[in-house]
Amino acid sequence: MTLETSIEFLKNIGTERAKFIKNVLGITTVEDLLTFYPIRYIDKSKIYKIGDLTKEPDADIQLKGKITDIQEVVYEKGKRLSAKFRDETGTMDLVWFRYTNWMKDSIPLNKEIFIFGKVNFFNGNFSMPHPEIEADEKKALSGTLLPVYPGSEKLSKRGINNKFFQNIIFNILKDLPQLISENLPDYILKSMKLMGRLNSYYNIHFPKDFKHFEAADRRLKFEEAFFFQLGYGLKKLHQKTKSFGNPFPIVGDHFTNFYNNNLPFELTNAQKRVLKEIRTDMKRSTQMNRLLQGDVGSGKTMVALLTMLIAMDNGFQSCLMAPTEILAQQHFNSIKELLQNTDINVKLLTGSSKTSERKIIHEELENGALTILIGTHAILEDKVKFQNLGLAIIDEQHRFGVAQRAKLWSKNNIPPHILVMTATPIPRTLAMSFYSDLDVSVIDELPANRKPIITAHRREKDRLSVYQFCREEIEKGRQIYFVYPLIEESETLDYKNLMEGLESVMNFFKSYNVTMVHGRMKPAEKDINMQFFASGQAQIMVATTVIEVGVNVPNASVMVIESSERFGLSQLHQLRGRVGRGAEQSYCILMTDDKLSKESRTRIKTMVQTNDGFKISEVDMELRGPGDILGTQQSGVVDFKKLSLIEDSAIIKASKLTVERILEKDSLLNHPDNQMMKQYYIRQYKGKNKWAQIS
Ligand code: ADP
Ligand code: MG
Repeated sequence: MTLETSIEFLKNIGTERAKFIKNVLGITTVEDLLTFYPIRYIDKSKIYKIGDLTKEPDADIQLKGKITDIQEVVYEKGKRLSAKFRDETGTMDLVWFRYTNWMKDSIPLNKEIFIFGKVNFFNGNFSMPHPEIEADEKKALSGTLLPVYPGSEKLSKRGINNKFFQNIIFNILKDLPQLISENLPDYILKSMKLMGRLNSYYNIHFPKDFKHFEAADRRLKFEEAFFFQLGYGLKKLHQKTKSFGNPFPIVGDHFTNFYNNNLPFELTNAQKRVLKEIRTDMKRSTQMNRLLQGDVGSGKTMVALLTMLIAMDNGFQSCLMAPTEILAQQHFNSIKELLQNTDINVKLLTGSSKTSERKIIHEELENGALTILIGTHAILEDKVKFQNLGLAIIDEQHRFGVAQRAKLWSKNNIPPHILVMTATPIPRTLAMSFYSDLDVSVIDELPANRKPIITAHRREKDRLSVYQFCREEIEKGRQIYFVYPLIEESETLDYKNLMEGLESVMNFFKSYNVTMVHGRMKPAEKDINMQFFASGQAQIMVATTVIEVGVNVPNASVMVIESSERFGLSQLHQLRGRVGRGAEQSYCILMTDDKLSKESRTRIKTMVQTNDGFKISEVDMELRGPGDILGTQQSGVVDFKKLSLIEDSAIIKASKLTVERILEKDSLLNHPDNQMMKQYYIRQYKGKNKWAQIS
């Protein structure tokens, strides 16, 4: 028997149930079971006081006191039983939604008893539904920390309940301890004060006490972080020795002339710092692999342009790739405008470029006459060959697949320097610790003339006043966005909402021009409508999320997001970033339904409270988990079982340092002390380390 053995061969499971467990919970192997961690523990050794509770506790808890005032409450859909429970520090409600008369009568009144269960906190009151009641003190306080596993009614119907998992997992630990051999060398266990591996599995499932649980938890988290970092450390070492790059030793006339004569504004300090970092990278004869993070509106385009000018000064071509046509077009327009007083040749290549234009572009790229190419995925086509591509800039990284990025590398014998720009700020802990093969630059400062966007939450009943507010803004000369969710462009219902929205807006704003952009339109039509808005001819743009990324109309000052509860946080932040680009005060209005889920409420509240993209992404990550944040193609990439990228930054840092120290001394892991770690890594992580493919 090994960790990879299917669970059907374990005692008391059998083929049928194994299949069922696999389907419902995704648990296939013995190892899956061992890492099927409890979601919480039942601790009956401790007695809580109502007065000490400040929030909903994570686990079921026990309280001591008296039940008073039992009442049957009858309402439309049925009845419930409700009672007061008091201890010497306060009162809470007890409720039963399902009960029999016999049960009702057997509830002890005005007698010292123990209650045990889940405590809810709502509207400033604590309550406990369906408490377990125990009068015998000895019985109440017996029992240590018992694990509670994720489960469902569907599972327990087949006898797969908490007890079942407790037994099965306990038996594995008892009968097969040899499966859980240590994978970290002794010197790390000692220096990091880590619990042994087998012991940790025992104590994560059946903790001796809370201290043991904490030690086990820390060790298992460290182990995950450690092997992850090890993969990266090894990859980085490997890459450093392999990937040559073209050194860009000089800053020449193109850069200097532009900087001195054509720069329309003073760079922010953050822009200057980031440029210096990029410049230092590109001087070297290794390939640059840099992630440039900057909130929406932080001025990444200018950094990109200046970087391309450095490439040009060193005799190389550059390309800038954007995820959508609109975005590519916008980059092209703004860069073209910035370069208007120079003779630098810039061209745009997208899916809708005409054959005749393409021909010229292909020729000029190959003979070197074209120095800056801006475009979409079209740049990746095999037909597109450069004379000497020295720099590839990718905007809005998460939209591009890994394979597509790799394609850029092969456009030159010596791979071009890569600069990935993203406005989806990845939380710092994640970026710094986990993109260890990408260097990270952060523009953490907005241009000085910006006023923070004011964000408000409004409901349907406020619609008229929202419209009136918009009208006042238009009368001041501003422009307005109305954005509708069209998550799936094919969803007929969403499409209908969009059209109704358009009608409602057109009805109210009769004397103004309204234009529209959505995903079902042909690119040319989109462009025309977008231009109509960008040029100021239309005061109102009704759109779906196609305008999400990058669109730059500085005169637009109000962003109304309809059904905003249906958008994710990073999307809302991106959308909001479409306003606040000029010197005027800008506003973002989040329209929602009256009823909101808890998660939607958190999202809306976060948006109203902060403009800081990093804070927003941290909340987002807590709500959704890191896999999702990095985009669908990469989801599941950082599937940690225990480690939390937000809460465990100390462990992550420690594991990174530990790995660095090990690899400094023993980069091939040949030292005898490092053998079990190496073997474990090879067996466990090879091939699984998908992160290794990012850029
Ligand atoms: P993003 O980082 O979202 O791509 P952009 O590069 O589109 O941001 O810049 C947003 C706006 O800010 C543009 O209109 C740009 O001209 C302007 N901008 C960029 N840098 C500065 C600066 N240092 N001072 C003033 N305005 C700036
Ligand atoms: Mg941009």
